[in-house]
Amino acid sequence: AKKQGKDRYEIFEPELQATFQAGLQLEADLRRAVVRHEFELRYQPIVHLRTGEITGLEALIRWQHPERGVIPPLDFIPLAEETGMIVPIGEWVLREACRQAATWNARRDSQHPLSVSVNLSAVQLDQPNLPAVVASALANSGLPATSLIIELTESLLVDHRDSTLHQLEQIKELGVRLAIDDFGTGYSSLAYLRRFPVDIIKIDKSFVDDVGDEPTAAALTMGIIQLGQALSLSTIAEGIEDKFQLTELTDGNCELGQGYYFAEPLTDIATDELLFPTGAS
Ligand code: C2E
Ligand code: CA
Ligand code: CA
Ligand code: CA
Repeated sequence: AKKQGKDRYEIFEPELQATFQAGLQLEADLRRAVVRHEFELRYQPIVHLRTGEITGLEALIRWQHPERGVIPPLDFIPLAEETGMIVPIGEWVLREACRQAATWNARRDSQHPLSVSVNLSAVQLDQPNLPAVVASALANSGLPATSLIIELTESLLVDHRDSTLHQLEQIKELGVRLAIDDFGTGYSSLAYLRRFPVDIIKIDKSFVDDVGDEPTAAALTMGIIQLGQALSLSTIAEGIEDKFQLTELTDGNCELGQGYYFAEPLTDIATDELLFPTGAS
């Protein structure tokens, strides 16, 4: 039987206990990171496939840990969601991405403003003040709502609450666009397109990976693109890594894409250099 009280750690194997303590350490570190602002954003260009023009940037968070170096989002976002810390972290991402995009757009041809895409967690969507936070991030930065895209994963929409749809509609009323991330990986993708006010479909990397060597993946990819067209939605292919994938997707009329073939997620400084080259012109 399990022991209770102060002896309760004895139920753990030593390795389990180590994992448990590492988890507690990570949580303490994450709390400190929120206070000390140890987060940074990377920006991955989103490219118009036919012209090669950069139309937007996806903001992707990194944790600059003082001892452990850069920690990728998948290593701390789940803990941030469990502990609720994703709320202040996510709000910072939103404000910083809007601020940075507005700064870049002020230096660009006003006819071709960049959009910025921000990933949202389900926990953030459960906050009743989310529409107000989005409105405030836009107002403070001066970024037009039409330049902000909010990315939601299918898993977020799977166990949505009744309030989710209302929250999304309020955000849409601001003029913000909504994208479904990792499209095709959930088990009722099509249902979301009816229920939620979506503007953009992001074709999951797993389809793009196999578009060249697996007929089923190629057929599904082309089907998703045609579905997007039929519903007047933009399609963004994720994780394009080679020229062949680019050609297949372009020929299949996919509008936009992102991936290492074009650029990895870049620091703000590297993004600046990409958007406003200082070298010979
Ligand atoms: P995601 O939204 O699907 O983002 C795309 C991920 O694929 C990014 O990983 C990106 O670096 C990576 N990627 C892009 N192009 C390629 C490619 O050509 N090949 C390969 N192998 N990978 C590529 P990253 O930055 O590690 O982010 C992982 C996930 O963490 C994101 O997946 C997103 O779900 C989550 N995430 C990132 N930033 C945030 C954030 O600010 N808030 C929340 N809630 N989640 C975030
Ligand atoms: Ca995303
Ligand atoms: Ca994705
Ligand atoms: Ca492959």
